[in-house]
Amino acid sequence: MSLSRRQFLAGLAASPLLLNTSVSAANPPSILVIGAGMAGLAAARALSDQGLKVTLLEGRQRIGGRIHTSRVWPDYPMDLGASWIHGQKQNPITSLANAAQAKRIATSYDNAELYIDKRLKELGVKGTNETALEKLVNKALKQAANLDEDISLQAAVERVLTKPLSPAYQAQLNFYLNSTYEQEYSGATRELSAQTLDDNEEFEGADLLFPQGYDQLTNYLAQGLDLRLGQIVSKVNYEKTGVTVSTQDQSYSADYVIITVPLGVLKRNSIQFNPPLPPAKQAAIQRLGMGLLNKAYLRFNKVFWPKELDWLEYLSPDAGRWAEWVSFAKIGAPVLLGFHAADRAREVETWTDQAVIADAMKALKAMFGNAIPQPVGVQLTRWSQDPFAYGSYSFNAVGSSNEDRQALANKNGRLYWAGEATHSEYLGTVHGAYLSGVRAAKAVLKLV
Ligand SMILES: Cc1cc2nc3c(=O)[nH]c(=O)nc-3n(C[C@H](O)[C@H](O)[C@H](O)COP(=O)(O)OP(=O)(O)OC[C@H]3O[C@@H](n4cnc5c(N)ncnc54)[C@H](O)[C@@H]3O)c2cc1C
Repeated sequence: MSLSRRQFLAGLAASPLLLNTSVSAANPPSILVIGAGMAGLAAARALSDQGLKVTLLEGRQRIGGRIHTSRVWPDYPMDLGASWIHGQKQNPITSLANAAQAKRIATSYDNAELYIDKRLKELGVKGTNETALEKLVNKALKQAANLDEDISLQAAVERVLTKPLSPAYQAQLNFYLNSTYEQEYSGATRELSAQTLDDNEEFEGADLLFPQGYDQLTNYLAQGLDLRLGQIVSKVNYEKTGVTVSTQDQSYSADYVIITVPLGVLKRNSIQFNPPLPPAKQAAIQRLGMGLLNKAYLRFNKVFWPKELDWLEYLSPDAGRWAEWVSFAKIGAPVLLGFHAADRAREVETWTDQAVIADAMKALKAMFGNAIPQPVGVQLTRWSQDPFAYGSYSFNAVGSSNEDRQALANKNGRLYWAGEATHSEYLGTVHGAYLSGVRAAKAVLKLV
């Protein structure tokens, strides 16, 4: 089933995200949106469709932000940022994908195979011990919830361990914490809040990825919008009467501004605000965590792993090392995607490409034997070094909570805020970014 663009917009208007305020004012306000990722595009689309004058300022020479489809391999577009619609039921990104007529394919965590490193096999390890570890971590989180002060997930787990761990059990625990928490939230266990890390919501249904690229959705939203690429915002002056935004070579004025730059950019103070941001917003920027998830796409001349699998898991004595792989064999591509999260990702980012590839191949040889071919192409990400993101997505760090996300989302003066980090329920996701953009657009429309 697919929808036309018009049907999509009609659906949007009829949904709970209702944007049915037609602009009637003789002099509709002008709006600048900073950042053309999913949040900025969703906000600009909604406002522009209501007849408001909207200009998008984007620092990069492309739109999409943390949705970035690489077409380095023209036959196989690869997503270097977001890949999946997580939970397709009721998810607004499903409607958007229908409208954009973007093909999707489901992957399932249940369709996985575990490969155990021979050093652990020699210690008698036969599996991940998931059920027992889940029980242990749940107990740790339950106890941590009753403490007066927040502690890290790592500290919470250590509190409930009664004796020193054997190397085999330690490796299983590390694997569980890495694949369940670090890869999902992109923060390290020593950073993740034990009290609030799970304070988010999920949509039900399958996880779907886009064989032709996630950018079909951002390109679809961007149609006809006034987009200014290569405009790196460095100053925002906001007063009672209006806002002036300065980039490296231009100055823009507007009645209202919607800011959607990533939390990582705000943490670096890449943008100077005048007057300074309210203390609660500054504290929220400091307290919330900006995590790291990196991808390594390895292309081979043939598929040498079981074609039918979605996920290949590697349990090794080295915490978080090449623990999770996704196979693209299902879409006919002889491509494996390996992930690194949090501290391990930060370390691997400092290596040369050659060193990363050599390490990846060592892991794959441990999983499939020495006879596997060398890759014929590789694409690696280094999101923490990206000056327009400084990380992958936000997480609840020790001492932070959804109140911080609310503080980040609150308007101050003529500034409105969106972006995944401002969404309490769906943080760290494309749908959270989208919903935050629609929320900001609705708030601005109330002024009209
Ligand atoms: C590796 C990785 C994998 C992910 N996987 C998934 C997934 O599978 N599913 C999912 O739902 N989510 C996933 N996410 C998260 C998802 O990509 C983000 O939550 C979402 O895309 C964020 O959108 P946004 O609009 O809030 O921010 P962004 O997309 O980052 O948009 C902000 C924009 O602001 C621009 N900008 C920054 N600074 C300036 C400046 N000074 N001046 C002007 N412009 C500026 C940026 O260039 C960017 O375009 C993943 C993210 C990463 C990095």
